[in-house]
Amino acid sequence: MTPEKFDVVILGGGNAGIGVTGPVRRAGLSVAMIEADLLGGTCPNRGCTPKKVLVAAGHALHEIHRASVHHISIGTPKLDWAALIDREKDMIKDIPANLARSMAKRNVEVIRGHATFAGPNLVRVGDRELEAKHIVIATGSRPRPLPIAGAELMITSDEMLSERELPGSVIFVGGGVISLEFGHVYARAGAEVTILEALPQLLPAMDADAVARLQAESEHIGIRIKTAVSVKRIERTNGQLRVVFTHDGNEHAAEADRVVNGAGRIANIDTLDLAAGNVEHANGRVMLDRHLRSTSNPLVYVAGDAVPTSPQLSPIATYEGDIVGRNIVEGPEYSPDYASMATSVYAEPPLAAVGLTEAAARNAGLAIDVHVNDMLGWFSAKTYAETVAWSKVIVDQSTDRILGAHFVGHAGQELINIFGLAMRFGITAGQIRENVYAYPTFSSDIKHMLGHG
Ligand SMILES: Cc1cc2nc3c(=O)[nH]c(=O)nc-3n(C[C@H](O)[C@H](O)[C@H](O)COP(=O)(O)OP(=O)(O)OC[C@H]3O[C@@H](n4cnc5c(N)ncnc54)[C@H](O)[C@@H]3O)c2cc1C
Repeated sequence: MTPEKFDVVILGGGNAGIGVTGPVRRAGLSVAMIEADLLGGTCPNRGCTPKKVLVAAGHALHEIHRASVHHISIGTPKLDWAALIDREKDMIKDIPANLARSMAKRNVEVIRGHATFAGPNLVRVGDRELEAKHIVIATGSRPRPLPIAGAELMITSDEMLSERELPGSVIFVGGGVISLEFGHVYARAGAEVTILEALPQLLPAMDADAVARLQAESEHIGIRIKTAVSVKRIERTNGQLRVVFTHDGNEHAAEADRVVNGAGRIANIDTLDLAAGNVEHANGRVMLDRHLRSTSNPLVYVAGDAVPTSPQLSPIATYEGDIVGRNIVEGPEYSPDYASMATSVYAEPPLAAVGLTEAAARNAGLAIDVHVNDMLGWFSAKTYAETVAWSKVIVDQSTDRILGAHFVGHAGQELINIFGLAMRFGITAGQIRENVYAYPTFSSDIKHMLGHG
């Protein structure tokens, strides 16, 4: 078989793969993108976008719950879960076809199928072989397999976004982002929710004080949370599932209609035949240099969730794809900088964060000012009858620059981008305070969150 020749072959058509196509197509390189499933990958088809439709419904329920504060009386709300899932599916159904059109417009050849390496510069898909000057692994991630008996009884976020029946009860194994986001929607929709986390803290990468606020609010809406547990097995019992776990040396059990794998996600690289591509890897991680390039095969780059060391977020996947694309065009010049990447956990209310946690800043020995505000008594929080309104902003004493910001509630999922912008472009705390903000807005509270200089 004579291989077809391309300048760039991209494995995976998600945020990362699509991010690569911009710079390489602008430079006129020929590009093939191989996609085994839906074009667009996880975020628009099975992740951020459909999940946010469910989160928005949870938000509406939360608003209705608080309506009496505004002297509005409403009967008991009823969420039609099947219709909500239909709404969610309807909203995303055209995305793959729209992306196919935009890839065609960019002159990217999209090939359907599962790609594997057939050599250091050779990729196989179906009965085709593609020879490439550069190969990009942008194959995303999948739920972390858990080495516990009965693990196959667990469902994942894919099923949660598709099942048209609201379960009566759900246990999440793992207390990460997916568990909190779906847990809040389920709980507000009336399901009994339990979260079991192995570590002492939910969301271990987040600021401990912010997580404590979110945990308190989660418990307030009825979510049962147990940390520092070790799940031993999952078994069927009387039409339900039972999760057996130990906590403080004692064995416990909890039962529910569904058990969800909420233990995070790992790079999707195990079926790529990396050995054939001379791509060095260990423990599910491709070895990369600071330019996201394979340490053993300089023709190969990795971007997105398949990168083992960066946060698994869609804007980061797109950003890394763009960096890889520019490195292919200009040579390995660019390295990612994640310091000012904002993120949110879309619970209701959300936890939003950018930069260092207080613990990380202190561990690094930095001289910092930490501005913590419980804003529940502030006019804006009272106006909207917020149930949590909390912020922590960490400022470098020597430069007055923002090192980190953390919110629970108070439109933090929007305000966090102002802090990300400030961090990225070096806007100081003093300059943020000096700005004139539209009033009354949550943003106009920012200057008060930073103290008075
Ligand atoms: C439930 C859920 C909610 C999320 N919510 C958010 C959110 O709110 N905000 C946020 O920023 N991020 C969110 N994420 C994370 C976000 O979806 C990912 O970070 C992002 O999609 C990663 O993009 P990617 O291109 O690296 O991988 P993907 O989007 O997963 O794309 C990889 C593609 O590669 C394909 N593929 C895999 N192997 C092969 C192969 N061998 N050959 C050919 N094709 C292959 C796959 O079919 C897939 O389409 C969420 C994720 C999940 C699961």
